[in-house]
Amino acid sequence: MEDNCIFCKIIKREIPGDIVYENEYVCAFKDLHPVAPIHILVVPKIHITSLQDVNDENLEYVAQIQKAFKEIAKITGISDKGYRVICNCGEDGGQEVKHLHYHFIGGKKLGAKIVHD
Ligand code: AMP
Ligand code: ZN
Repeated sequence: MEDNCIFCKIIKREIPGDIVYENEYVCAFKDLHPVAPIHILVVPKIHITSLQDVNDENLEYVAQIQKAFKEIAKITGISDKGYRVICNCGEDGGQEVKHLHYHFIGGKKLGAKIVHD
């Protein structure tokens, strides 16, 4: 855990977060600025800075995230409708918060699959 990381602080309940799902490995909470009716951030419960920092030691946390999407879809009632998962990495990827996170987005028919600008 990193002292100055806002997502670590949400996980530790040091700052408020609207947590919708969590287990031993994963925490999922509502994005502060949703881009769709359902916009949830799914993060590992250890501090991993970005996809560039995934390794054999922390891989279990990342693997568990892949499984959590299904649970979150169930909780939000969109398993059948579908959803989109986005992970921004680094400067060019537009990553602002330096704690690995996946945007789980849905609740409406989404537009362009790849955003160019
Ligand atoms: P990214 O640009 O991929 O790093 O996304 C960071 C996301 O974190 C943005 O969508 C923000 O709206 C969201 N965000 C920032 N601070 C918080 C917070 N305290 N609680 C929930 N979401 C946040
Ligand atoms: Zn962190």
